[in-house]
Amino acid sequence: MAVDPDVVVVGAGPNGLFAACRLARAGVRVLVLEAVDHIGGALGHAETTLPGFRHDVGAGFVAFRDSAAFQALDLGRHGLRWALGELESAHPAPDGTCPAIGRDRVASSATFGEDAAAWEQLVRDHAPVDQALLGFLGTLPPIGPALQLVRPAGLRLAAMALSSPGGFSRRTFATEAARRVLPGMGMHVDVGPEDRVGAAIGYMLSLRAAMNGFAVPVGGAGAVPAALAAELAAHGGRIQLDSRVVRILVSDRRAVGVVLADGTEIRARGVLADVSAPAMYLDLLGEAHIPGWAARFFRRYPMGWGTFKLDFALSEAVPWSAEPARRAAVVHAGDDLLDLTRFVDQVRRGELPDHPYLVVGQQSLVDPSRAPEGQHTLYVYTRVPARPDRPWSELRESYADCIERRIEELAPGFRSRIRGRAIQTPDDLFAMDANLVDGDLGGGSNQWWRQAFFRPLFPWFRYRTPVAGAWLGSMYTHPGTGIHGMCGWNAAGVALRDL
Ligand SMILES: Cc1cc2nc3c(=O)[nH]c(=O)nc-3n(C[C@H](O)[C@H](O)[C@H](O)COP(=O)(O)OP(=O)(O)OC[C@H]3O[C@@H](n4cnc5c(N)ncnc54)[C@H](O)[C@@H]3O)c2cc1C
Repeated sequence: MAVDPDVVVVGAGPNGLFAACRLARAGVRVLVLEAVDHIGGALGHAETTLPGFRHDVGAGFVAFRDSAAFQALDLGRHGLRWALGELESAHPAPDGTCPAIGRDRVASSATFGEDAAAWEQLVRDHAPVDQALLGFLGTLPPIGPALQLVRPAGLRLAAMALSSPGGFSRRTFATEAARRVLPGMGMHVDVGPEDRVGAAIGYMLSLRAAMNGFAVPVGGAGAVPAALAAELAAHGGRIQLDSRVVRILVSDRRAVGVVLADGTEIRARGVLADVSAPAMYLDLLGEAHIPGWAARFFRRYPMGWGTFKLDFALSEAVPWSAEPARRAAVVHAGDDLLDLTRFVDQVRRGELPDHPYLVVGQQSLVDPSRAPEGQHTLYVYTRVPARPDRPWSELRESYADCIERRIEELAPGFRSRIRGRAIQTPDDLFAMDANLVDGDLGGGSNQWWRQAFFRPLFPWFRYRTPVAGAWLGSMYTHPGTGIHGMCGWNAAGVALRDL
């Protein structure tokens, strides 16, 4: 009979696994309970189209593989390897322009045309503060990193962060081509080009790509959770699959264990959850254990947009008209600021955009192990209203065709190279992973009023909840969505202090 764990971690997504590793390395007995039959959450791969074509089911690219959590664990010991493209992110448009972000400053700025000097200047200004900005991913408040930044770049970064993505881009660049780059990055989450105080996300993603790359885990995204699981096992931690937690047991305002869907009770000194914020507060803890005003807030929790994702098996690489796109790990489709703004307006009105903004992943260009020799995978997603006026079962094929036409516009001949296609609607993503509520990949809205001290809700921004010994460490907490591990890592740090 297994001994009771000290801490139960609910959910084996990247944040749950990073948290479990930190706890186990500190000598805590950890049991991770995962609802489905595999680990990784929205970070994994599967042969969704044809045999031999490995597609990332959620996250594909890692901009923060140098976060404190990754650095502490050295997952290379467990076989994790990264691959990087020649360019990180290309932004083609039908007019032939294609600015592209790359780690090689000369190659990258050459694609910015008239704005080459402006792009180079932006990267040069950012480089000395890049590592200090990473400090903002730590537990709040980020006093150390803020002090490090005040002198060299405080005013400049504050002015950027207070701008809209479009406003910052118009101030920085002269050409329409360059102006679409940073705002397009911000639309990975629910931040539109003209949203106030919205520039920081697109800025961070773009400049991190320039500094550190959009790295691809060799073999498939599932290589990251596999390495985390190996690290956890090396420190005595256990993972139990097919074990959905339905309730946290509370006694005397302390978490004392969990109940599984089949009624099994597991006792522990603490519970650290990698679940959505509404699930944590309303379902696992339950309204009896949280204030009424918090329950009302979580019942109407502000979510981000839905996500509609396609995987393609291709006989050859995508024949992009713009040459830099043929060398980039990621390609963003969005013609200009007006096109992106119109797209956002349509999503916000609940309409399916007719000219979709796209995030396109070319993993097999960077890591040839993803597809049979000479052939390729393609990963494409766009943002959609979670609940359009007709059910996704009716819309899925026609919207996938619309996305194919959009790629064909930028890469004539693309459709003739398609050998297989797999579709994930917002409903499919939610069914795959309960944290992707209605297909939202951002852990709720990422607007500025949902960040930092407000994430998921003041005063519980430091991973604690109203119940002692129950911590939330998913992407719904600071610093939010993305593969950096810092939500779980920070939560485990707080849990260790509390224990
Ligand atoms: C299509 C898509 C593309 C993305 N692209 C990128 C990208 O390129 N780069 C990037 O950095 N990020 C990307 N992301 C975001 C990234 O995947 C997430 O931010 C990250 O996976 C969040 O990790 P997490 O551990 O908080 O949650 P998740 O990855 O969602 O994992 C949560 C886990 O908890 C389990 N769980 C939930 N409830 C319970 C319960 N009650 N009991 C037991 N287990 C439970 C779930 O089954 C799941 O395994 C993408 C996401 C999606 C969906």
